[in-house]
Amino acid sequence: MEIRVRTEDCTICGACVEDCPFGAIILGEEGPEFDESCTLCGACVETCPTNAIHMVGDEKTEPLSQQTESQNNQGKGGVWVFAEQREGQLASVVLELLGEGKNIASQLGEPLACILLGDQVEHLAEELMEFGADLVYLAAAPELSSYRDDLYSEALAHIVQTYQPSILLIGGTAHGRSLAPRVATSLRTGLTADCTGFALDEDGNLLQTRPAFGGNLMATIRCPHHRPQMATVRPKVFQPSSRHPGRRGEVIRVDLPALHPWARILKVANESTMGPNLSEADIVVSGGRGLGNSENFRLVEELAEALGGAVGASRAVVDAGWVSYPHQVGQTGRTVAPKLYIACGISGAIQHLVGMQSADIIVAINRDPDAPIFSVATYGIVGEVEAVIPALIREIKNDRS
Ligand SMILES: Cc1cc2nc3c(=O)[nH]c(=O)nc-3n(C[C@H](O)[C@H](O)[C@H](O)COP(=O)(O)OP(=O)(O)OC[C@H]3O[C@@H](n4cnc5c(N)ncnc54)[C@H](O)[C@@H]3O)c2cc1C
Repeated sequence: MEIRVRTEDCTICGACVEDCPFGAIILGEEGPEFDESCTLCGACVETCPTNAIHMVGDEKTEPLSQQTESQNNQGKGGVWVFAEQREGQLASVVLELLGEGKNIASQLGEPLACILLGDQVEHLAEELMEFGADLVYLAAAPELSSYRDDLYSEALAHIVQTYQPSILLIGGTAHGRSLAPRVATSLRTGLTADCTGFALDEDGNLLQTRPAFGGNLMATIRCPHHRPQMATVRPKVFQPSSRHPGRRGEVIRVDLPALHPWARILKVANESTMGPNLSEADIVVSGGRGLGNSENFRLVEELAEALGGAVGASRAVVDAGWVSYPHQVGQTGRTVAPKLYIACGISGAIQHLVGMQSADIIVAINRDPDAPIFSVATYGIVGEVEAVIPALIREIKNDRS
């Protein structure tokens, strides 16, 4: 893909220079000139009042207003949710995406559809319709019996190309995070990862909001020139759709062409974590650098065990090797939304807060009364974790005996 200027249409107004987010444009005598910091983001294409700037090398890059009628028909296939399943069980994020997808689809006046890949997963189509899907595109094949990057991305890209949805939402799970960029690349469309909110602009483009610059600000991203508009969303960001038993829709069985495996699976090793699943636990006890060392981190595990909760951690302690990555809570870890979150010796950096602040009740234990974690805490305990956590464990055990 490359950027070109029709000099006969350029009025040298300078709008592109002003709007370039990378300062990559200078005005030459005949029009804009681009230096090596240009990322082909397309901001200047949108800004240019005379449409003198355009992209070449990608058949889908003209502004929507200049697309042919058949191109304009692209993306009328509705709002799609990738129905991730493991061993015939839907991932919980699918129901959350159906809840949010329903809002978007009804505002657009388009159907809400699911794309279901797997083997012997027909029974899930009914469940998806009860949770709000109007259509389920079902591609069943033995080679799709368990998730594989190569086959799932090829199958999904093929089906999207055939039915052309306007929006495709994928859960930000381990599988979804691997699948989404592969599909987006093969479809040559944009992808916004880890969205936390959606809206529509006046042209019906999806406004995709996500944390940016280390979580210090929220960015809203549009993908006006390519379809589908693709986004991933982590579990627990949206409320799940409610179930309406007996609700029906249409199942469309999709025949897949021969798929081309490029990988051979030698062994599947399950991730080992302590205690209940972090993303789905009602109680999460997390520890941070304030614990001082890996030995003291066991206090967090003990408190979690006493409460029947899951163990979480800040990135600082994961980086220090006190606990493994699957326990990390925050922007680059898991998003959790338990009923009770206990933060022990965690300062409350924004990157941690984005992963836990929607917990119903937050208890923070920190020796520093000004620690930012107290700004989101329901209850704060100012004190030393080495003293407070054992006291809590004692009280819980006494209470039970
Ligand atoms: C792009 C990016 C992504 C990131 N992603 C994540 C993420 O996903 N998750 C995450 O957690 N972080 C993430 N971080 C890191 C984040 O910015 C912080 O550095 C990290 O959260 C700090 O961890 P902490 O609170 O354990 O440590 P610190 O910030 O060092 O805080 C330790 C706290 O413990 C308190 N304390 C010390 N001793 C005691 C004691 N004896 N008793 C009680 N309290 C005590 C201190 O007062 C302090 O508040 C990310 C950073 C970047 C740049």
